[in-house]
Amino acid sequence: MQHARFTQVQDGVLVGATQIASPNFNARPVDTEIQLIVIHNISLPPSQFGGGYIQQFFQNQLDWSVHPYFQTIEGMKVSTHLLILRTGEVIQFVNFNDRSWHAGRSSYLAQKECNDYSIGIELEGSDDLPFEPEQYQALVEVVSTLQQAYPKIQQHLAGHSDIAPNRKTDPGEHFDWQLFRNLLVKQKLSKKISSDL
Ligand SMILES: [Zn+2]
Repeated sequence: MQHARFTQVQDGVLVGATQIASPNFNARPVDTEIQLIVIHNISLPPSQFGGGYIQQFFQNQLDWSVHPYFQTIEGMKVSTHLLILRTGEVIQFVNFNDRSWHAGRSSYLAQKECNDYSIGIELEGSDDLPFEPEQYQALVEVVSTLQQAYPKIQQHLAGHSDIAPNRKTDPGEHFDWQLFRNLLVKQKLSKKISSDL
């Protein structure tokens, strides 16, 4: 297996991730601990990959005139903590200590406003296409590192559609939760073995 690249969080920054600042964040409520990871998909235009439009969108720099779809999201100010591209490259837009704007109206285990206490991870993808193996690999590395850095997360991993079921469908039926959870267990096992050596 490829050597893990994303193994450390320092002051809310994922070491090894490309850093691009989004202005779309604010402070988490006082005394709020990070306890949930929310998995999403996004592509701009929908089901088209590459092009850098997602990055521009999260920086409020997207030219709305480039594509008709962009006009339907014109002026929206949203963000995510992490974006995992089709290649497995990981981009961080918001410090984990801050509240990124990815979930919207939402609720997890009867706790509302998931943005307050979650980390958002967007996979470059769509509801109608499979994700790339590189994306699962990066995702398990990232999630296992986040679970270590923020132990309250434990097994609290949800899809956007789980926390906003009437509004959202992502990450969609092509996101393979079983594969993801199996890879995560393997990742933790290999981390444990290497730390025991
Ligand atoms: Zn979403």
